[in-house]
Amino acid sequence: MRDIERVLTAEWTAAQTEEWITKTDPADGSPVGRIPVTPPAGVIEAVRAAHDAAPGWARTSPSARAAAVQDAARAIEEHIEDLAWLTTREMGRPVAEAQAGVAAGVATLRQYAELGPLHRGHSLAGDWEATDLMAYEPRGVAGVITPWNDPVAVSCGLIGAALVTGNAVVYKPSERTPGTGWLLGRLIGELLPPGVFATLCGGPAVGALLTEQPLDVIAHVGSTATGRRIALAAAVTGAAVLLENGGKDPLIVDADVDPGWAAEQAATGAFANAGQLCTAVERIYVHERIAGDFLDALTKQAEQIRVGPGWDPDSQLGPLVDRQLRDLVHAQVREAVAAGAQPRCGGELPDGPGAFYPPTVLAGCTEQMAVLREETFGPVAPVVAVGSFEEALRQADFGDYGLAATVLTGSVAHAQQAWRELAVGTVKINDVFGGAPGGAAQPRRASGAGFGYGPELLDEFTTVKVVHLAPAPHSHRA
Ligand code: NAD
Repeated sequence: MRDIERVLTAEWTAAQTEEWITKTDPADGSPVGRIPVTPPAGVIEAVRAAHDAAPGWARTSPSARAAAVQDAARAIEEHIEDLAWLTTREMGRPVAEAQAGVAAGVATLRQYAELGPLHRGHSLAGDWEATDLMAYEPRGVAGVITPWNDPVAVSCGLIGAALVTGNAVVYKPSERTPGTGWLLGRLIGELLPPGVFATLCGGPAVGALLTEQPLDVIAHVGSTATGRRIALAAAVTGAAVLLENGGKDPLIVDADVDPGWAAEQAATGAFANAGQLCTAVERIYVHERIAGDFLDALTKQAEQIRVGPGWDPDSQLGPLVDRQLRDLVHAQVREAVAAGAQPRCGGELPDGPGAFYPPTVLAGCTEQMAVLREETFGPVAPVVAVGSFEEALRQADFGDYGLAATVLTGSVAHAQQAWRELAVGTVKINDVFGGAPGGAAQPRRASGAGFGYGPELLDEFTTVKVVHLAPAPHSHRA
């Protein structure tokens, strides 16, 4: 057992609570810890304390707030190994990738520390004797509710943007990565004035109770079903809502690309983080002219991936977060196979402990199958052969989600047509995980609402006040 797990166990054991969640390692089922659930009074008190602290934090100069976010980035960087280790133990991600996730979180915090003080309003062209302006102000108290699949990187973006713009934050990390969330929250919280930052432990009930409190903004990254519940709760309290939710991202493979290269792109997109990424490739539409070669190459790639515990440096693909998710993934695969999909590799539950699922390639999938309609969140690549690029675009646009899409094509005309026509927030041409820094997009339909990253995230955590400042008519110098 690593030192960090000893510290965590000691602190958690001393916690005052009546409810506990038991967390096990998805690689072998060994215990990671018993997590104390924040009692309802603790949730209410955290929000009350945040309201008390918010005005003082809002008046703190932007450069001082930015300095605190920089300090948080430094503290997290100093604990990169502990945070990555806990991530791997709690959700299975190979440790080198988990470290990259923590490093991405540190970089994001630094980015918001730089951008925060530059976030500004406009002066307006009013009367000569008046001053007219639009000023950004912090919203007040932000509830930040996050998932387990990239726990540090996702949390750091929201927390950094919320804090640097002058909001107090009540943070509710996922119950599936509670130690990671707890350590992250502790590193950030101890650098801030009392009440400005609190971390809550627990699952959906704790999250739901938080959303019933008088928050000014709720930022949720997680599943669409939860996002909808949060939107309903916010409709009652009047909180602003930012939702970054599920996806069912298509990959379109045009007739003119090299099938081997396209298979590499598909494998990266479908199998990275065992498919547990919001922008994972979840369905593939390949032109029938190259479909055979593409499927052969993708199957070969999938079969070569080394599956094993995330804490083994040789593993390229860890287990899924738990058996609950594995059951959902396998049910979709089984249903597809029963309906006529042909498994080219994978698709069988392995023997042994843990929540491992093999990289799986399914040929001959159809729109009726859940594996093409619902988010899978596992290492599954369902493939559909299509007769034309137009047909691929039509099928890619099918369904409820609108997060992102990737198109592999040598045709500028097809690339242009694709980015114009696809109803998603992000379109990537010829690069499955590419994108320039500073980009931001709004997800569409069931994938959420608002800017979840980029400079525009600062707008989400602020609200605009327009000011008209005119002199009083009879004012004169004394
Ligand atoms: P989830 O929505 O189940 O859980 C996320 C958080 O919401 C957790 O902290 C959870 O405890 C909390 N929660 C659950 N029910 C709640 C309720 N009723 N009220 C308030 N809070 C509640 O999602 P998950 O399984 O942790 O994460 C996986 C999902 O997240 C996938 O759908 C994935 O696509 C999505 N995701 C999206 C993005 C994005 O940027 N669009 C990024 C990462 C993950």
